[in-house]
Amino acid sequence: MQASFELFPLVLETTVDGQRRSCLIKEINVSGDTAKKELWFLYPNELPMPDNSDCDSYLLAILLPAMQMKADIIVHGSVSQELLSNLTELQYVWHKWCPEEFFLVDIKVDSIRDSEERQKGAIVAFSGGADAQFAAYRHTKGIAGYSTQDIRAGVFVHGFDIPLADTQGFLGAAKMAAEVLESIDLTLFTVKTNIREVWNMNWELYCGTALASTLCGFNKYVGVGLLGSGESYDELVTPWGSHPITDPLLSSSTFKVIHDGAGFNRSEKIKAISEWPLGIKNLRVCWAGGNHERNCGYCEKCVRTRLNFLISGVTDPACFTSSLKQSDFNSVVLRSEAARSEWKLIRSEMIETGQGVEWLPKVEQVLKRKSSPKFSTILPIGSKRRRLVKKILAKNS
Ligand SMILES: [Zn+2]
Repeated sequence: MQASFELFPLVLETTVDGQRRSCLIKEINVSGDTAKKELWFLYPNELPMPDNSDCDSYLLAILLPAMQMKADIIVHGSVSQELLSNLTELQYVWHKWCPEEFFLVDIKVDSIRDSEERQKGAIVAFSGGADAQFAAYRHTKGIAGYSTQDIRAGVFVHGFDIPLADTQGFLGAAKMAAEVLESIDLTLFTVKTNIREVWNMNWELYCGTALASTLCGFNKYVGVGLLGSGESYDELVTPWGSHPITDPLLSSSTFKVIHDGAGFNRSEKIKAISEWPLGIKNLRVCWAGGNHERNCGYCEKCVRTRLNFLISGVTDPACFTSSLKQSDFNSVVLRSEAARSEWKLIRSEMIETGQGVEWLPKVEQVLKRKSSPKFSTILPIGSKRRRLVKKILAKNS
């Protein structure tokens, strides 16, 4: 039996907490078993919302889970013609990147929307990290040249890096993000969603699509969404969930997604935002521990960011409460290809610029340190070994 996902958009609900857009998803697997799930997004009350039948956001959310399950998608609502065209191409990208993990699937929709108008203005995905800050800063300060976007607001999503259950942590982090955006005359909107709880997807691969799915709910307010880049063009990590090849393919005729800032690496971005005192003070790079209002100072991301600052000529930035010391490197382990690539870049930048070069032996030590093998290292995505283990697990479940 052919597996399928059916999407049924639900009616918008307005409460004191916000506007809840949601859809019912009926999943049928190859054995004919069915499951029903509800995907929801809670948007601020003051925003104009897309029509109930507009399923662009839901289709984006469901695409990668459906490709992974080899399930056709049936949408009982409307989808933008441009989005359908882009998602056709996007499927080829994921299938070429991970041929045994993501399969090509059919998409059927009740109605296709054509020749729609795109609103003026842009929003930027904003969680207070260096990539988002760089995007917000360079566009509002008009230093992005001809590519400058008219950013109206930042959007911080609860349910991505900070789990839905952590209300206090999110409030603290959102307060810092709002302060920093206010200093460049931008509003902060917060959105809640259960997208990460509906499917157990690898977040490193799913993050960009999940962000686009959430941000495109702003399509009646602005027509462009910026996703701050991670790796620069010369250091791209593939496959990755937010990437210069895939992000533009998340665009519809009413909401264009831009992968912003890949012309700059992390040290270059940090150098640019080092002219923004509140930006530096409120820079939040750390997801370690339970406190989302400050950076711990000694996790991999914190130590790496401190080195980026040193390379940019900034010692003791205000986002860290103490100076870098030898022992901060003790527990640094590189758990992803992206992190390893960043540390290699730091090594070459130190050698090239001479900045922070006194920490070079420590950087070498970290690069030599073995990380504990992850599931994806033992069973690489797309490998025969992984497929075999999955088959065995499926048989025994
Ligand atoms: Zn940290």
